[in-house]
Amino acid sequence: MIVNKIDRKNYDCIIIGGGGAGLRAAYTLAKSNHKVAVVSKVYPSRSHTCAAQGGINAAVGNAGQHKDDWRFHMYDTVMGSDFLGDQKAIEYMCKEAPDAILELERMGMPFSRDDNGRIYQRSFGGQTVNYGGEIAKRTCAVADRTGHALLHTLYQQCLSLNVNFYSEWFAIDLVRAANGHVVGVVAMDLETSALQFMKSHFTVLATGGAGRIFKSSTNAYTCTGDGLAMAYRLDLPLQDMEMWQFHPTGIFGVGILVSEGTRGEGGYLVNGDNERFMPSYAPHFKDLACRDFVSRCSMIEIREGRGCGPNKDHVGLQLSHLPKAVFKEKLPGITELSRVYANIDPMVDPIPVVPTCHYMMGGIPTNKDAEVVDYNLGSGDQVVPGLYACGEVANVSVHGANRLGANSLLDLVIFGRSAGQSIKDKLDQGVADVPVSDDDVHQAIQRFFEFESNHNSGAAKSVSELRVMMQEIMQNDFGVFRTEISMKTGLEKLKQLDDQIRECQLVDKSKSFNTARVELLELDNLMKVAISTAKSAVYRTESRGAHSREDYQSRNDDSWHCHTIDKIKMDPVKRPVDMSPEIVDAIPLRERAQ
Ligand SMILES: Cc1cc2nc3c(=O)[nH]c(=O)nc-3n(C[C@H](O)[C@H](O)[C@H](O)COP(=O)(O)OP(=O)(O)OC[C@H]3O[C@@H](n4cnc5c(N)ncnc54)[C@H](O)[C@@H]3O)c2cc1C
Repeated sequence: MIVNKIDRKNYDCIIIGGGGAGLRAAYTLAKSNHKVAVVSKVYPSRSHTCAAQGGINAAVGNAGQHKDDWRFHMYDTVMGSDFLGDQKAIEYMCKEAPDAILELERMGMPFSRDDNGRIYQRSFGGQTVNYGGEIAKRTCAVADRTGHALLHTLYQQCLSLNVNFYSEWFAIDLVRAANGHVVGVVAMDLETSALQFMKSHFTVLATGGAGRIFKSSTNAYTCTGDGLAMAYRLDLPLQDMEMWQFHPTGIFGVGILVSEGTRGEGGYLVNGDNERFMPSYAPHFKDLACRDFVSRCSMIEIREGRGCGPNKDHVGLQLSHLPKAVFKEKLPGITELSRVYANIDPMVDPIPVVPTCHYMMGGIPTNKDAEVVDYNLGSGDQVVPGLYACGEVANVSVHGANRLGANSLLDLVIFGRSAGQSIKDKLDQGVADVPVSDDDVHQAIQRFFEFESNHNSGAAKSVSELRVMMQEIMQNDFGVFRTEISMKTGLEKLKQLDDQIRECQLVDKSKSFNTARVELLELDNLMKVAISTAKSAVYRTESRGAHSREDYQSRNDDSWHCHTIDKIKMDPVKRPVDMSPEIVDAIPLRERAQ
């Protein structure tokens, strides 16, 4: 039996993902001398966290005319989420944020500084003081390379604590024992294609997002939703998968992000008549309204014929009025990106931008200790023993229907730490070994060997053809504006494409760094995420946050103030939103002001 030939290793904890979330979890565990390994399909410092530009939120209170407070941060996050965020988790994240920033500073993260030497803070979308009052400056930044600095800081700390890194290893599927415990993962060494069963008391999914389901995306090519698909295949739930954030300022034609920090520094959007259009839609927040709202306004300008360029198919991001020093000190990265990818100098001309898929608010439901939670109608929430999730793959849920800019890096460090801490506590108390049978391991590699041994005739479509077809469906039928007819047609087409993946033939069987094999496995994962997104989007018959339906244009709290739970073999169901913060009173439902 093939299972017998697979190498095995034992760990206290396996973390799948070497981005900000995975490394923050690893840091806590390694500090307490537990045997922890991090598996990453790319070298950890190449994870998508490295691309984060604008910053990380915390009510540190170094900038702005009015003193900031974590309660204001909580209020903004709940409002930004369009009340789909769980208030206990949001309260915890916002309260812990200032300490988390100071901890990063002590680890050596080189934050930009103000004139007094304190951590520099800029404005980002949806940030206010005094519960919806003046615009706040809450985003701590390292110029416009915050993620780069965060990831390298955490990686260096992990190296100094001797974390075991499996760099360029691809996790294929989780192993679940007969008693329901998740007991590790089967992963493949990309250099040799050798498989290994990494057995562990605890497994953490920190595999990041899946923005590559869309044709135009700011996400790295590695953001293929592998962790989501691993959980989905185990019949675990995905939550709020209809909620995808479109960032208003992806460079037109290439999708590369231009940080919201540009608008935080005073930049604004213009239409084809060179008119600043946001103040007429959002008199209070103007260009710093929430991303879902700004994206819709840009799309309305384009749809109504007021776009820029010969085809009037994008808008402009005006920065040329900003002082030269701002480009040099605060926005050096985006100045370079605009020159290389848009062929313009942002000190002279507006950057051509268009709403572009950026972030997955949905994910694997967890509690605030980052334990994965299964949900069934009738029996409610149940923790999945042995399995944790943190970072973009998880849905704890702090972002609800719309994430505030610079709250994701915060989510990584807060809930990465929660995962590490909760696992440490359990390991310290002692855990019993869970027996694993060959059959359990076999389940996790079956899919892999089916692809290996597929010998269809040449009629099947190639991986790249299927991927392009999926991305076009997602872009056209599940973009900024959605409607039932096109979504239902899109879902049917996706299901057909999913069947066609089974026909895909792996022509290249070479062992060393076989990218064709990886792309096939990734496409299979992407397709699961796309289908779950489509099912959830058809299900929610209202407009909330990023989910904007032309056939149901208003928010409907009576029927839809709830999460969407989707599992591979069933139709979506509703799960209550948590409205029970532990310290302050719950923020009651109300309309979002712009
Ligand atoms: C361009 C851009 C700019 C952004 N700017 C900001 C910002 O300024 N502020 C902010 O708060 N947020 C920002 N975000 C969002 C934020 O950066 C991400 O949500 C966050 O970095 C995700 O971190 P993560 O640790 O969950 O995953 P990632 O950093 O994506 O890491 C995922 C890890 O999982 C590994 N992995 C995945 N699948 C497998 C597999 N099958 N086997 C083995 N390993 C696997 C990868 O190798 C990688 O190490 C930005 C996002 C983008 C795309």
